[in-house]
Amino acid sequence: MVTISRLNKWYGDFHVLRDIDLSVARGERIVICGPSGSGKSTLIRCINHLEAHQQGEIVVNGIPMTNDVKRIEQIRRNVGMVFQHFNLFPHLTVLENCCLSPIWVQKKPRREAEKSAMEYLERVRIANQAHKYPGQLSGGQQQRVAIARALCMHPEVMLFDEPTSALDPEMIKEVLDVMIELAHEGMTMLCVTHEMGFARTVADRVIFMDEGQIVESAPPETFFNEPRSSRTREFLGQIL
Ligand code: ATP
Ligand code: MG
Repeated sequence: MVTISRLNKWYGDFHVLRDIDLSVARGERIVICGPSGSGKSTLIRCINHLEAHQQGEIVVNGIPMTNDVKRIEQIRRNVGMVFQHFNLFPHLTVLENCCLSPIWVQKKPRREAEKSAMEYLERVRIANQAHKYPGQLSGGQQQRVAIARALCMHPEVMLFDEPTSALDPEMIKEVLDVMIELAHEGMTMLCVTHEMGFARTVADRVIFMDEGQIVESAPPETFFNEPRSSRTREFLGQIL
């Protein structure tokens, strides 16, 4: 579904991603963790070309990434993204947020887009807030809207960048529950998160990044119980 080979990226002189190799099969759930500044966000943002890379190859759903705008649009149609700070449009209602891309990118008739959006809002248990504005919702509710909005485009893979780290503790669970449901439905997911409970229950593989490299990649049992690298052990010691 996603194949990344020998990926290298620099910000100016700073070598932010170093020889990243990562293959994500259809239906696979990957959790990425690692210290601040290790390149986690940069890596997943490269997958839908929110960041450009300089070396290596990224193939999404059979489509190799290039700088061609049409190609990038084609890839983005397969990839849903959920950010730490929700990134909803504040001047649009929940329903309008969800319908925007289906109407303007997929050229769906408005009624059809709204019907489909309501179904996704139902699934994330927020349909009763459809006519409110993001500012009128709690953080957890806004994040569930952001997930519904991404799903409205019928992505093949979902990218999550610390979707719960801006939330108050009592709201984290409602967002994680939605993500767990998605995982059980077979969605291909790459999640940057430090929610290690989520990683243990949902992930097929947990990846630890440090200084732009993948240091460890293993199924959760191995990752948590017998990590190979001392850097992973040190990190886990700090967060668990
Ligand atoms: P965090 O856990 O804090 O979100 P991260 O692992 O997601 O960290 P990135 O945001 O990918 O890390 O950043 C990796 C490194 O690249 C950091 O040192 C950061 O300062 C640097 N960086 C990120 N974006 C840019 C940019 N646009 N220009 C220059 N440097 C950047
Ligand atoms: Mg980040």
